[in-house]
Amino acid sequence: MFDNLSDRLGNVFDKLRGRGALSEQDVREAMREVRIALLEADVSLPVVRRFVDAVTDKAIGQDVLKSVTPGQQVVKIVNDELVAMLGGADGEPEGLNLAAKPPVVVMMVGLQGSGKTTTTAKLARMLRMKQGKKPLMASLDVNRPAAQEQLAVLGQQAEVATLPIIAGQQPVDIARRAMESARLQNADVLLLDTAGRLHVDEALMAEMKAIAGVSTPTEVLLVVDSLTGQDAVNVAQSFTGEVPLTGVVLTRMDGDARGGAALSMRHVTGKPIKFAGTGEKLDAIEAFDPKRVAGRILG
Ligand code: GDP
Repeated sequence: MFDNLSDRLGNVFDKLRGRGALSEQDVREAMREVRIALLEADVSLPVVRRFVDAVTDKAIGQDVLKSVTPGQQVVKIVNDELVAMLGGADGEPEGLNLAAKPPVVVMMVGLQGSGKTTTTAKLARMLRMKQGKKPLMASLDVNRPAAQEQLAVLGQQAEVATLPIIAGQQPVDIARRAMESARLQNADVLLLDTAGRLHVDEALMAEMKAIAGVSTPTEVLLVVDSLTGQDAVNVAQSFTGEVPLTGVVLTRMDGDARGGAALSMRHVTGKPIKFAGTGEKLDAIEAFDPKRVAGRILG
């Protein structure tokens, strides 16, 4: 993950650190290289511009260039701006918000193939094993053949209950039944896996709104495939205006060498990346930690 970007930035900063004194010109040249490295990592252009401007402004401030270790100070500024780019002001991981009357509803949305069903099961497993919660999962995906069965199989593997399937029942009715079942079972968290489509369309958004309307979710997590880069960011932007998203899960981070989606998502959508999928297995999920990710990028 971030291999190329990390190498490129490493080279730029080695050069900076190697000098005793830095001129404004040195900083500007380094930032030109940083700009290219970020664009090659598929970071969206407005995000790159904002990042480079912020670093440049701070780095050519008098105190930095006059200090004894200007190179190191510039690297620190880059680190701080990277954290801000990945995760907002404090850069702390934003876990699931479960501060509501149980059963707390977590609604999963996203395009087909993004990893929604797998992520639903990963989160349910994590809630059960790491937080001692009692989750219930329900698939509202009546579009994709065997989607509901897929969640049931994952539920068995994760040792998490799934709502029994009633053939022919429609999504909003399944959501209502899931809520009632979660209450009866005293489940703490109800995870709703919704249907995807190949593209964002009106029918999908209408369905998501109707489901959110009856289930009043505390979390609406958009699942996107990080390998799709800026498309993932565009998908997130399309959802943002339509459904009340509370966060993003980036899947397939294990195969994403560039990292453009991760680096652009927060700024473009205003939504935090809450989790990263790092493999096909049910334990392959991590809380997204902006400080750690920035640390990984800067080596
Ligand atoms: P859905 O259509 O959005 O529900 O997608 P699925 O959950 O069925 O996932 C599609 C495929 O992506 C499956 O083969 C998953 O095993 C795989 N997948 C999901 N998340 C990840 C991930 O984080 N890393 C990798 N390598 N594969 C993933």
